[in-house]
Amino acid sequence: MATEDEFGRRAARAAELVRDPGAATDLLRFAAALLSAQGQAASAFAALHALEPLTGDLRTDIDRLIPRLSPFLKLVAEKAPPELAEEALRRSAEAAETVRGRLLAWWDAPGSGEDYLSRAFLRPYLAVVTGLSLPVPRRRAPGHCPFCGGPPLLSIRRSAPESEAGSRFLVCADCGGEWPFGRVRCPSCFEESPDKLPVFQTDRHPGVRVEACEVCHRYLKSIDLTVDARPFPEVDDLLSIAVDLWAQEGGFARIAPGVAGL
Ligand SMILES: [Zn+2]
Ligand SMILES: [Zn+2]
Repeated sequence: MATEDEFGRRAARAAELVRDPGAATDLLRFAAALLSAQGQAASAFAALHALEPLTGDLRTDIDRLIPRLSPFLKLVAEKAPPELAEEALRRSAEAAETVRGRLLAWWDAPGSGEDYLSRAFLRPYLAVVTGLSLPVPRRRAPGHCPFCGGPPLLSIRRSAPESEAGSRFLVCADCGGEWPFGRVRCPSCFEESPDKLPVFQTDRHPGVRVEACEVCHRYLKSIDLTVDARPFPEVDDLLSIAVDLWAQEGGFARIAPGVAGL
C-alpha cells in the first residue's frame, strides 16, 4: 500500500472516532487534519523521489523538503490545541537558518527532545524513505526503531500462534515502523525485573495498559490488539488520554508524546 494511503486511512479512522461518545473530539479532529496533511506530504515526497532519488539522509535531502514546512506550520497553527498552535505560529516567523538547525538537531538526537513539530513534519519523509528501504543514517539507541532510530510511541500486542497472550511489538514515533520487543523489558532503561515494571489498567479502557518503569519513571501505553483488533493504534491511542493523564499524575513520563502532541 502506498504510504500516502496509510496516512489517509489513519485520518479516516480519526474522523470516524470523533463520533465516539466521550472521545476527545478536538484532538481527534486535529489528528484527522494532521494525518491527512502528512499523507499529502508523503505523496509529494514520493513524487520528488521519482524526479530525483531521495537519499534517506536529512542532511542531503533537507532543502527539497523545506518548501512544505510553511504550509504544514500554517495547518498546525489553525487546527492544533492552543499551546501547539502558538508554537507553530512562532516557528513560522523564524529565519531559514533557525528552521534548518531545528530539524537537523531533531534528526541528530532521536527521542532526546520533545520537538513534536519537527517530528510531525518529518514523519512522512521518514515513512517514505523507510518504505523505500533507504538506509537512514541516524543513531540507533537500544530500544529504538531499527529502521530509523526513532523512539517507541506505543507498545502493541498482536495475536501470535506461538504465544497465547500475544506478542509485544513497539511502534516507532518517527517512521511508524513496528518491531518485536521482549514482553517484560523497559525500552528506555532495559530493566527486566517484573516487580520494577508495574502494569496499570482501568475498567474503562480494557484493551489499554500503562507499562511503567519504576527505575527510569517512563511509561509506554500498550494497546492490546488481541482483545480488540482496532486497526490503527496511533489513532485509537487518542481515545484513552485519561489513562495518560493518570500515569503522568503518578509521576511517570511518556517516552514519546502521541499523534496529537500529548
Ligand atoms: Zn522508525
Ligand atoms: Zn525504565
